[in-house]
Amino acid sequence: MRILEENYWQNINIWKDVKKEDWENWKWQIKNRLKEVKELENFINLKNKEDILRTEEIFHFGTTPYYLSLANFEDKDDPILKQIVPDIKEIDENYQKYALLDPFLEDIKSPVNGLTHRYPDRVLFRATNFCSVYCRHCMRKRIFLEDERARTKEEYEAMFKYIRENKNIKEVLISGGDPLTLPNQKIEYIIKNLSEIEHIDIIRIGSRELVVNPFRFFDEELLEIFDRYDKLWLITHFNHPNEITNYTKIAVKNILKTGTPVLNQTVLLKGINDDKYIIEKLMRDLLKIKIKPYYLFYCDPTKGVYHFRTDIFKGVEILEYLRGRLSGLGIPTYAIDLKGGLGKVPIIPNYIVSIESDKIIFRNYENKLVELEI
Ligand SMILES: *Cc1c(COP(=O)(O)O)cnc(C)c1O
Ligand code: SF4
Repeated sequence: MRILEENYWQNINIWKDVKKEDWENWKWQIKNRLKEVKELENFINLKNKEDILRTEEIFHFGTTPYYLSLANFEDKDDPILKQIVPDIKEIDENYQKYALLDPFLEDIKSPVNGLTHRYPDRVLFRATNFCSVYCRHCMRKRIFLEDERARTKEEYEAMFKYIRENKNIKEVLISGGDPLTLPNQKIEYIIKNLSEIEHIDIIRIGSRELVVNPFRFFDEELLEIFDRYDKLWLITHFNHPNEITNYTKIAVKNILKTGTPVLNQTVLLKGINDDKYIIEKLMRDLLKIKIKPYYLFYCDPTKGVYHFRTDIFKGVEILEYLRGRLSGLGIPTYAIDLKGGLGKVPIIPNYIVSIESDKIIFRNYENKLVELEI
C-alpha cells in the first residue's frame, strides 16, 4: 500500500493551493476533473501530441486529479498514465481490425433500453454512461461515443418494470459508466426500487470510484444509503498495486462498516499488469485491505482496446504461479467473456495429468505427481 503524505498534492504546482477539505471531497474531484488531454501538459511532456489529440477526438479523455496524482510523471511506461492517456493504437485499424464496438451484443440483446439479460438469474443494469475517469481499456468503450448522461426517469421505470415482471431474476448488476458518479438521491432511488422487489436477493454495484475517487466513500450520506439496504455488494476494478493507497484503506473500511462486501475485478492488460509479480502484489495488497479478488479477465475484443490484449495463456501462467504461493483467498477466477453475449467462461490451469480406468493422476502446484485410485 502506498502511503501518501499529508497534503502531498500541494507539491504539484497546479494543485499547490488546493485545500485538504477540497482534495478529499468527491464532488471537488469530479468537478475539477481533467477533460482535455492538453491539460496534461502541466504534468507530462506529450510526445506524439497530434496522435493523442486525434485519438481523443474519437475516444474522449478524462481523469480525476486524485487518479492522475498517483502517476509517476517521469516514467513513460507508468501504469496509471497508460490507463488514461489516449494512444493512437486505439484508432489504428492494424490493431483494431478484429475488434467490435459491442462484442457482447449488450445493446442488441437488450429487452429494454439499458438492461442486458444474459443469464437466467441476473441482469445487467446500465445506470449512466458517465465516468469520472475514462479508462483506455474500457470494455464498454462505445459509451465514449455517446453524450454523457444518466438515464431518464422513464428509462429507469421501464427497467424496474422488466425486473419486477421477471421473477427468475435474483440479482441486478448496476453498472454504467460508473453508477457511483450519480448523485446520492438518484443512487438511492435506484437501489430502493430494486430492493423492494421481493425476488431480488443481490444488488451488485460495479464501480471504479474506489480506485479513481476514494473520497466518494468519505461521504456520510452515501454510506448511510449503503447501510440502509442489505442486498448490496460492491465490485471494484483495481488493475495495478500503484492504485492502492492509505485513502483506499480508509474508504474500504467505511464501506465494510455498512455491511457491504467489497470484491475486485482486474483486467489483464499488456504493458500494464501482464506480469506474475505485479498481479501477485496486487492480489496481496487487495487482501491486506480486505478486498476479495473475484475475477481476472482476459481483455475483451472491444474496438479501441484490442492493443491491450495479451496472449490468452499469459493469464493461465499467472494463475499457476499464484496457486500454492498465495492464500486461496487471493486467487481470482481467470475468465474470458465469449463474443456474441454467450457468457463468461473460466480458464483454469489443468491439474489433472491423466485419467485411467482405475486412477487419476494429478499434479500439485510444485508439479509433483500424485495418483488417486478411483
Ligand atoms: C458479467 C456479466 C454478468 C455477471 O456474471 P458473473 O459471472 O455473475 O459475475 C451478468 N450479466 C452480464 C450481461 C454480464 O456481462
Ligand atoms: S470506470 Fe468502468 S465504465 Fe468507466 S471508463 Fe473505466 S472501465 Fe469503463
